Amino acid sequence: MTIKQGDNALTVPDTMKAWILGGPEELTLGEKPVPEPGVAEVLVRIDAIAVCASDLELIEFGTPGLIEGELPFHKNHTPGHEYMGTVVKPGPGVDEFRPGQRVAVEVHAGCMRCKRCRMGMYTSCLNYGYHSKGHRANGFTTDGGFAQYAVNHVNTLIPIPDVISDEQATLIVTAGTSIYGLDVLGGLIAGESVVVTGAGAIGLIGAGVAKVLGADPVILTDIRDDRLEMGKSLGVDYGINALKENPVEAVHKITNGGADFVMECSGVKTAFNDAVKMVNRGGRVCLAAFAHEPVEVDAQDIVGNNKYVFGIRAEGRSSTHRAAALIAQGKLDPSLIHTHTFPLEELPTALKYAKERIENAIKVVVKIH
Ligand SMILES: [Zn+2]
Ligand SMILES: [Zn+2]
Repeated sequence: MTIKQGDNALTVPDTMKAWILGGPEELTLGEKPVPEPGVAEVLVRIDAIAVCASDLELIEFGTPGLIEGELPFHKNHTPGHEYMGTVVKPGPGVDEFRPGQRVAVEVHAGCMRCKRCRMGMYTSCLNYGYHSKGHRANGFTTDGGFAQYAVNHVNTLIPIPDVISDEQATLIVTAGTSIYGLDVLGGLIAGESVVVTGAGAIGLIGAGVAKVLGADPVILTDIRDDRLEMGKSLGVDYGINALKENPVEAVHKITNGGADFVMECSGVKTAFNDAVKMVNRGGRVCLAAFAHEPVEVDAQDIVGNNKYVFGIRAEGRSSTHRAAALIAQGKLDPSLIHTHTFPLEELPTALKYAKERIENAIKVVVKIH
């Protein structure tokens, strides 16, 4: 949707609809003042937002939300972080973006004053949750996108061309997270064997990106055949159903002795050691899923075979820009994992679909404007 300057839709009202988090699982649709963009910020009219497992986690448990060191309950907080929209008002001194421009938004704006931000690791900001120090992770630590408008730091905006639809643009953060994982594993993956464990949104897109970047073969493991089939439409060479065969043995057989890279996207308890066993000597494992319980690790396998293990947090190293480029060029189509759409008023239904995977829901998108 192209919006010209002077379009009524760019006129900013004083108040907006926003979902507000009370206690755990208590979301109400209310009114909030439309926020004012400050220095290095713009106001974005939110057009669409995807629901993520971290939203469900935050609404139920509070984490990974953090507001000035405390959980986000009863703080007038608006969750939602995988959104896109239209720039409606640049803050003072901002000339990088103009009203009417369509943008996707990445979640993390680091404080840009801590050691990690200065290294470029803004998703691992040491001042996470402290807006008073300049940090923003909209939808986790500052107000997010289950609302009509949100203020965003200019560093978090990704201009998008009209060939990318609103729905596709909401998936840029997910694709960026997958790309960051591949980036941390070594980036140049053409001709290398890549295994992705877990065919959730990040895993499916990660497998698709690995294929686009020339990985060979790309192997996807999961326990659901329909997800493995979806992986094939994203370019996966081999789908392994871990309920039907031993995934470690299957990977060793396909790769003739172990894969070069594994990206672990399932978060299940056995996945970490399986991933380590799947790679060959000197191979690399990247953990991209939040695990809910500690696991025992076969340290000797890692040390004795010079294996590398990494953890990634979110869409680091401006990977969202690379995701947008792949989508704009038609090389990656994340809309394959977009299954349902609801209006803003029906957010609770959208969350329920995502949580209970009703009608095989993967990515549920909420359209706002
Ligand atoms: Zn997310
Ligand atoms: Zn920082």
